[in-house]
Amino acid sequence: MMKLNRMHLKRLEISGFKSFARKVVFEFDAPVCAIVGPNGSGKSNIAEAIRFVLGEQSMKSLRGKRGEDLIWNGGGAVGRSNHADVTIVFDNTRNEFELDYDEVALKRSVSRDGENQYFINNSQVRLRDIFELLGKIHIGATGHHIISQGEADRILNANIKERRSMIEEALGLRVHQWKIEESEKKLAKTEENIKQVESLRREIAPHIRFLKKQVERVERAKEMREDLKGLYAEYLKREDEYLTHHRTRLSEERKGPERELKQLEEELESARRALASGNAEDPKSKELVLLERDISAARTTKDELSRALGRIEGMIEFEERRLQKAREQHKEVEVVAYRDVKGFTEDLEEYVTQALAQHTIEEARRIFEKVRSALSDFLARIRHTDTETLVPASELESMKKEKRDIEDKLSLAVKEAHALEKTYGALKEEIEKEKDSSREIEKTIFKMMAQKSELSAVMQRIRGEEERIAGAGTAFKEEIREGIVLIGRDIMLYENFAIAAGDALAEDRAVQEERRRRIEKMKIKLEDMGAGGAEEILKEYEEITERDVFLEREVLDLEKSAASLRELIIELSLKLDADFKEGVTKINKQFHEFFTLMFGGGAASLSVVAQKKRKRPDVDLVLDEDMPPPEEEEEEGIDINVSLPRKKIKGLAMLSGGERALTSIALIFAISQVNPPPFLVLDETDAALDEANSRKYGDMLENLSKHSQLIVVTHNRETMSRAQVIYGVTMDADAVSKLLSVRFDEAAVYAK
Ligand code: ATP
Repeated sequence: MMKLNRMHLKRLEISGFKSFARKVVFEFDAPVCAIVGPNGSGKSNIAEAIRFVLGEQSMKSLRGKRGEDLIWNGGGAVGRSNHADVTIVFDNTRNEFELDYDEVALKRSVSRDGENQYFINNSQVRLRDIFELLGKIHIGATGHHIISQGEADRILNANIKERRSMIEEALGLRVHQWKIEESEKKLAKTEENIKQVESLRREIAPHIRFLKKQVERVERAKEMREDLKGLYAEYLKREDEYLTHHRTRLSEERKGPERELKQLEEELESARRALASGNAEDPKSKELVLLERDISAARTTKDELSRALGRIEGMIEFEERRLQKAREQHKEVEVVAYRDVKGFTEDLEEYVTQALAQHTIEEARRIFEKVRSALSDFLARIRHTDTETLVPASELESMKKEKRDIEDKLSLAVKEAHALEKTYGALKEEIEKEKDSSREIEKTIFKMMAQKSELSAVMQRIRGEEERIAGAGTAFKEEIREGIVLIGRDIMLYENFAIAAGDALAEDRAVQEERRRRIEKMKIKLEDMGAGGAEEILKEYEEITERDVFLEREVLDLEKSAASLRELIIELSLKLDADFKEGVTKINKQFHEFFTLMFGGGAASLSVVAQKKRKRPDVDLVLDEDMPPPEEEEEEGIDINVSLPRKKIKGLAMLSGGERALTSIALIFAISQVNPPPFLVLDETDAALDEANSRKYGDMLENLSKHSQLIVVTHNRETMSRAQVIYGVTMDADAVSKLLSVRFDEAAVYAK
């Protein structure tokens, strides 16, 4: 048997797959291998086994509905299998697979629950890995290299896009296509990521802006607090010095007036006391009043006595004159009985004594009234006896004596009155003197009060100042308390603030007031800003900006990779396009050649056309990833133009079945010629050919087999004659497909 000197299909092992209940092994070490056998013996199942192991996903292509349909379902005495296994073994001595093995065995196994497993040289792999590996030898999912029974004209029936895919695959451009699709998926994912990251950034942006403002506020507040610290330091230092100075000054200043005032008050008190005692109801005045009364009484007494004296002198004078007269004229003496006179004088004596004993003039007056009536009584009696009775000389004597008594008494009374008047005068003088001294005290008090009010005014002023300073002191403390809230204990640093000695006192108070106003303004601003949570804000801002920077970098990275993906896609697309167009040109040449060969003339060509088409994901290809949404796109595809010799037929639709078969064979062979696949499976592609065409077909097969290994399922004798290896497939009583190597003459029995 002729050995193949290129990468080829070495072996196919089928077990439990469809009618192949038991394991069969095909050795395919020849350029053309034919499979022959009666109808329904399982030949097509072999082509399907090859499709299956190469990763076919379309159940329809495998003539089934579910995975289970692929598994030997039991027949006769042979029980059903649990799984179907197919292994295909490639020669890799020239390392087309880029794997360090001389043989590369792909295996696929499906179990009844529909689970598929894939292996490369017994290591389990993903379907994708199978596709990638096959991509390296230009075999792919479109299965252009496996022409199923009745499917010879598949490429003719396919739409322009499918044709393009088939040709791309045949040309070995699927790798590019795969790469493009992969890059597109990556790009879509990257763009999605960009969108996500950007939306994330957009989401956090307002918060960042908000925090940024907060942070600016915090920083501004910090700066202001620093400024405030400076302002406070100077203000408080100056205020402190100012307060200390004035407190000391005032406490010194108040000492003198305070002492004076105290003294003055004491003096004033004693002066007032003195004045009060001087003005009180004074015994001297009372005494003076009594004296006045006594004097008046004494005067009355004196007057009475003077009058009594006058009367007695008159009586005496009268008696003496009467006696004289009597002596001279009649010598007759009128005598008044002695007892009368005696009694009368005794009465008078008594009255006078009484009068003298009286204290008031009134009382004395009453007694003198008695004296008066006693006198008139006595006189009345005398007048009665005037002429007959003479007062004897003794009675005169007694009158004289009485006169002397009265004189004595009068002189006594005068003396007494005099003494009283003297006493009165002295007392009066004393009282006047006392009045003078009171006036002096009053004057002094007046003066002292004037002094006091002066001192009080001074004290008032000092107290006023003290109050002002005390107020300033309270404000000072309050300022520190508020300052602590705003800038902390640092406020006490004002103590270290240096100002020139005495500067705080020399300066206009308005300047300091202006400082206070500035502090006040700043405080209000600071309070408006609110210092709450500064630390957290800074931390959060830092975190969120870090995150934003990270996201920004991520967007940049993603955009960079998106850009390079786009570049790659363009590059690949351009290459694909160029290769494709070049490939199509090459195929065209071959196609035309094969076509004219088969039809003995005419013309055939492929043309690249563009068509608006709704993009539909290729279900057969999209396995792991999500399907992209359908979208309008202009797609390029392949149109097939044919014109038959001697016939005015143009276009595929007008071809007969045989003509279609020939055209598609011409195209398939043309494609295979340009970029030969390692093997081609042709399942009864020759079914519709007449003898003449079968020969042409056989020639083409031989020609083709120089580049690609051919596995042909056939009933065609001509075709069988071109094969180096022939397998016969039969079905036994249990409906199990069996394999036998046959010679050409044995095979010929299956020829139609
Ligand atoms: P033809 O020459 O007429 O095209 P063929 O040799 O290609 O026929 P196939 O179509 O390959 O025949 O084989 C079909 C046979 O395989 C049928 O007899 C069918 O019953 C059998 N078969 C298909 N699936 C299974 C299965 N899961 N279990 C058992 N037998 C199956």
